[in-house]
Amino acid sequence: MLKKNKVLILGVVLLFLLAGCSSDENGDSESKNSKLQVVTTYSILYDIVKNVGGDQIDIHSLAPIGSNPHEYETLPLDVQKATDADVVFYNGLNLEAGNSWFEKLMDTAGKSGDSAPVYMMSEGVEPMYLTTEGKEGEEDPHAWLDVQNGIKYAENARDALIKVDPDNKKAYEENAQAYISELETLHQEAVDQYSKIPKEKRIFVTSEGAFKYFSKAYDFQAEYIWEINQENQGTPSQITKVLDLIKEQQIQGLFLETSVDPRSMEMVARETGMDIKGKVFTDSIGKPGEDGDTYIKMMEWNIDTIYKGLTE
Ligand SMILES: [Zn+2]
Repeated sequence: MLKKNKVLILGVVLLFLLAGCSSDENGDSESKNSKLQVVTTYSILYDIVKNVGGDQIDIHSLAPIGSNPHEYETLPLDVQKATDADVVFYNGLNLEAGNSWFEKLMDTAGKSGDSAPVYMMSEGVEPMYLTTEGKEGEEDPHAWLDVQNGIKYAENARDALIKVDPDNKKAYEENAQAYISELETLHQEAVDQYSKIPKEKRIFVTSEGAFKYFSKAYDFQAEYIWEINQENQGTPSQITKVLDLIKEQQIQGLFLETSVDPRSMEMVARETGMDIKGKVFTDSIGKPGEDGDTYIKMMEWNIDTIYKGLTE
């Protein structure tokens, strides 16, 4: 009899414990779910959408800071986040195309139909195209390196957030307005600063040819070792080609991106006896607390580094 009671008491205690645990868990997930769950494909979109979404959203970046979103191996956490997401943002313009990683992820996450809440940040950007043999006609994704396109991205983020979460329309509009006015100032800074670089010095080389939109907006000639991170990087023929180009043209500076393997650019520097003038941000913002850790800061860093590199 005594034994039975003990078992019963133990059972009741266990039930209480379980009930306690599960109500805690529910509490947690409820407080999480009260915010809009947002996923972006890489860190630059992450930062732009964070600025527009503010306190109303929880946000997760698939390709982490420092990595290159052209090709990305999704982790189980990414699948979970993408499945749970209320809205997903991607760049488009052929960026997330490597091995169709993004398309596959959206399929797995049940977000592949036309009505899925999946939005292209570069909507409305006039595409520029690759020129490498075999890749002609493919879109170049690096639109965000022209701040005017960054403004389009912010507007697209605002409109999509309002569509999926109309209750917070006012907050998204206010956040976007404040952020876009910062971006307008940034674009003007870029125009002013770059205009101080003499025309004949406005030519440089990076590893990946990420500066097409940038060059068009700010009047530069940007050369590269390979045109896009989806191809073989730093092959002997690419290196030979860029070495010839540096000889023929008055190339003023080599710059190394933070999100690529540095070895090819280091080889070009050794072979030509030129210095690498500094690091630039292209496919990723900087790590939190480090240089360029937001879209605005990375662009400011680039403005400064390219200006100094080509004028000193
Ligand atoms: Zn890239």
